[in-house]
Amino acid sequence: MTIIIGQCYKCHNSIEIEVNQTAIHEKLRWYLSYNCPFCSAAIEMDDVNLLPEDIRQKVFLEEGEWEIIVENLEKQKRLIIKCLRQIFGISTNELYQKLKELNAKSGVIYSGTKVEMDWLYTRLQMNGVESIIVQRK
Ligand SMILES: [Zn+2]
Repeated sequence: MTIIIGQCYKCHNSIEIEVNQTAIHEKLRWYLSYNCPFCSAAIEMDDVNLLPEDIRQKVFLEEGEWEIIVENLEKQKRLIIKCLRQIFGISTNELYQKLKELNAKSGVIYSGTKVEMDWLYTRLQMNGVESIIVQRK
C-alpha cells in the first residue's frame, strides 16, 4: 500500500489517497480510496493493468521507480517484443519505438512501480524470458 497526496474531486483540497496494486492470476489490478477529511467525500476506484499515469508518477515519488532488465537483449529481442505485445496489447511500432528509447540504458525493457515490475517479471518468466528488477537510481 502506498499513500500519495492528491486532490479531492469534490472540494479540491489536498488529501491523502491510499493506492494498492496486486497481481492475482496473472492480472494486474489497482485500487484507490480516500475519505476526505474536509468534505467527507468517500471514493473507491479500481481497475486492471497499469496505474493511470498521473497516479503512477506520484507512487514513484513515494516508493521509487523500478526497472526490468534483460541480459542479451539483442538476442532475445523478437521474443521480448512478442511477450510485451501480448501483455500490454500495444502495436509493434509503438513497442519498437519504446525499446529504442530504453535500449540506450543497457537492457532496460520497462519501468514502473515495484508491483508492476514483479508482475511483468512473472509474465516474462512464463514465456521463457529471464530478467532482473532493479530500483532506478
Ligand atoms: Zn473533499
